[in-house]
Amino acid sequence: MSDYMELLKKAGEFHGDICGGIVMGTKLAIHGMEHMGMTPGEKDKRLIVFTEIDRCISDAILSVTRTSLGKKSLKPMGYGKFAATFVNIDTGEAIRVVDLGANKKDSEDEEPGESIEELTERIARTPGEELFKIQKVSVKIDPNDLPGKPLEIVKCAGCGEVVMDGKHHIRGGRAYCTSCFDKSYYQLLE
Ligand SMILES: [Zn+2]
Ligand SMILES: [Zn+2]
Repeated sequence: MSDYMELLKKAGEFHGDICGGIVMGTKLAIHGMEHMGMTPGEKDKRLIVFTEIDRCISDAILSVTRTSLGKKSLKPMGYGKFAATFVNIDTGEAIRVVDLGANKKDSEDEEPGESIEELTERIARTPGEELFKIQKVSVKIDPNDLPGKPLEIVKCAGCGEVVMDGKHHIRGGRAYCTSCFDKSYYQLLE
């Protein structure tokens, strides 16, 4: 339990405050890492984590697992779901951890009228098995998405900008970035 409180404090500092998502995300990440035989709070080069939601819970998962976007060890999937998948890239072993409480109600884990202190206290003493479902899964990771040196670097035939990590598309024998090839999340104004 002391480990939980310490990791919770760190996750709260990273996130800006300790909210319900941080309380649950810290517990979820500890549960997931322990299942993988890894040490929560310590960086593990074998670990890649897929988070399924861009909300508070994922900040706690990032903090506890010490994964990062820049190290290619954290993959935000944006499914809008309260779950995360832990992959050991050495062994291929992978588990998906689902927050049961968040799926019981509409969104949050807090009991009605429960303060954040009461929630923390309850989650700290509840075994992870009661809070989370674990699914054994298989995850295929493109070599371009693994940590390490870049495997593919091309220049887009449309805009001339560099595209890393095999994220380009080929049309008519030429390489294009996603913006030029397909849809873009932005529109140039001039
Ligand atoms: Zn929050
Ligand atoms: Zn382009």
